[in-house]
Amino acid sequence: MKEEKQILVTSPLLPPLEEFIPYLEDIWNRKWITNNGEYHQELEKRLCEYLKVDYISIFTNGTLPLMTALQALRITGEVITTPYSFVATTHSLWWNGIKPVFVDIDPKTLNLDPNKIEAAITPKTTAIMPVHVYGNPCDIKAIQDVADKYGLRIIYDAAHAFGVQENGKSILEAGDISTLSFHATKTYNTIEGGALICKDSKTKQRIDYLKNFGFAGEIEVVAPGINGKIDEIRSAYGILNLKYVDGAIEKRRTIAQRYREALKNVEGITYMNDFPNVRHNYSYFPIFVDESSYGISRDALYEKMKEENIYGRRYFYPLITDFSTYRGLDSAKKENLPIANKVASSVICLPIHPDLTSSDVEKVINCIVKWKSH
Ligand SMILES: *Cc1c(COP(=O)(O)O)cnc(C)c1O
Repeated sequence: MKEEKQILVTSPLLPPLEEFIPYLEDIWNRKWITNNGEYHQELEKRLCEYLKVDYISIFTNGTLPLMTALQALRITGEVITTPYSFVATTHSLWWNGIKPVFVDIDPKTLNLDPNKIEAAITPKTTAIMPVHVYGNPCDIKAIQDVADKYGLRIIYDAAHAFGVQENGKSILEAGDISTLSFHATKTYNTIEGGALICKDSKTKQRIDYLKNFGFAGEIEVVAPGINGKIDEIRSAYGILNLKYVDGAIEKRRTIAQRYREALKNVEGITYMNDFPNVRHNYSYFPIFVDESSYGISRDALYEKMKEENIYGRRYFYPLITDFSTYRGLDSAKKENLPIANKVASSVICLPIHPDLTSSDVEKVINCIVKWKSH
């Protein structure tokens, strides 16, 4: 049997190899391969320009900036967060000895519902950790209002939100700190990598100490820091990939548009539209399957797609609150999180990335159309 092409949910954006080789030669010649080298500094500068932010610290992955943000702001006790995310969001709290308190999501944005935060606040609450899920902006103003009223910090997990703007402004300056992931599966990648965006030079300085074991000088350690550094090779790769990310986002936008047009009239399938005044990055294309009107269940469609070599992903299923570490917490109970539970049981993220051909996209669409009411 002919080996059929796999249509994957994502594919890494790789810069042209011939453009990368001169950077490697330069790094080999200089023999400065990590520890805040020239390419590390250049990537931070270029990212500030591209993302329209003032202060950024780059990291070796997207989980360490979350952990470091919590340390930098000395967050303790309880933090309010969403169950509808990748596990790293909540794990960063747990690793810091902080109790996550889960609050349900807004059915329209699928982000933390700002109207439900207040009821979850206790004397131990010190911060809110929302996620811009699929790169769709949270209700930044409403979350800030609650935080201000109760004196809470806000750390945004913006892992999906590379390059996302609202009203012409980066959403990465919302709250106290935002973090990004540059993992291979994300819209922009440095293979593994990530970043932390903060709002003043003092915080940036402290973050830079913390990501380098707490070293503030040759023999001075000011905090129990960690090793969060990214090397020169991946920094150079990141500089190159910045040239190609706009093209990649544009291709993703075209695919999202085609999906929306083709699935508009498929009963039982819904999707999210663009938000007003938002520059999206089209990092994911989630669809939601309503079994009673579509005809087969979400999981059945997911399996049918796989039989045709189409590999969607059920992001985010199971919910974080279903995993053994967290399921015993009071706030993890299903009745506390009806919307998150409903969405998690109906979602499939369709393949979306710049290497997809239009016939790949049509194949995905045909599969979904074909199984309607089977
Ligand atoms: C990818 C991701 C992370 C973790 O990033 P890594 O770079 O894989 O460590 C954190 N939060 C969310 C929401 C993510 O999607």
